[in-house]
Amino acid sequence: MKKKTVILSLAGATVVLGGFGLFGYEYSMLGQRFQALETEAFQLQEENASLNQQLDGKSSELKENISKVEEQEKYIAGQKDYVSELTQQIQEYAAKLPKDETDEESGETEDTDDMDPYGETEQDPYPDLYAQEHGSGISENQKYVYLTFDDGPSELTPQVLDLLDEYGAKATFFVVCKNNEEYAEYLPEIVKRGHTLALHSYSHDYHTIYRSLDAFLEDYEKVFDWVKKETGYTPSLFRFPGGSNNGSSYVRKEIIQEMERRGFVYYDWNVSSGDGSNLTTTENIIDNICSNIGYVENPVVLMHDGTGKQATLNALPSVLKYLAEEGYEFRSLDKTLQPVQF
Ligand SMILES: [Zn+2]
Repeated sequence: MKKKTVILSLAGATVVLGGFGLFGYEYSMLGQRFQALETEAFQLQEENASLNQQLDGKSSELKENISKVEEQEKYIAGQKDYVSELTQQIQEYAAKLPKDETDEESGETEDTDDMDPYGETEQDPYPDLYAQEHGSGISENQKYVYLTFDDGPSELTPQVLDLLDEYGAKATFFVVCKNNEEYAEYLPEIVKRGHTLALHSYSHDYHTIYRSLDAFLEDYEKVFDWVKKETGYTPSLFRFPGGSNNGSSYVRKEIIQEMERRGFVYYDWNVSSGDGSNLTTTENIIDNICSNIGYVENPVVLMHDGTGKQATLNALPSVLKYLAEEGYEFRSLDKTLQPVQF
């Protein structure tokens, strides 16, 4: 009986020990597995960090590229404006050349010559037989200059307004609504200080607005609504981005006809400050205005107060001083004047 108990006890102990052994083995296996998983997790963490780093690098590279592209686009837009200004200047100079010289160069014959026997070159037997010019408010003894600022409002607008005030000068602002909504508070300020608030474009994107009459109106309505909402004022003057000779001539004619039917008057310019190009310096701007102003009657001067046009702002004090000394009165444009159109 005693022997049996001993045998049974020994067998039990063996089972228990065996169980412990097995459990120990399992436990160490689990430990190893856990370690392996820990190493794997650590590796994955490291990989993740390096991927994140790469991603950060790529995204900042992408941002840099986007801002470069934006800069390029701005620059191209500026150059396009400048080219269109130059085209206009060339046309003006060509118009100043003696008639037969331009005919020779262009190979065109002006049929209207025959219908204009008492033109500038002929002695006019009826020197006083001329209708009153549109805009009778202009007195012969007074010299008026019409400064115009495109592409604002921007951070420069309040400084432009203060400089104009120093000379009691009135001007015209052709505004856009293109990433400059934060400067909307300057719109009522323009009106309050007695300037003309006029429209330029919503997007200022030539490809969009000159695609069709409808595309133009859709864009124009947006800036029109914006200005009305911010000021309560209904603008009636506008300026085509790049001037009225921009875009295809067919669409252009259609747009002009429809805009005039709606009562809007467009203004181009006859003196350019050349500041459409971002390469134009303050000195260039002063020179472009001051040396050309004397060639035209009632000069309408193209300038810009959009973001980045610091050179124009820097030129403005000298321009105002020079023109005031030359006896010009600074006026804003309105619907009663004979508009300057290309
Ligand atoms: Zn413009």
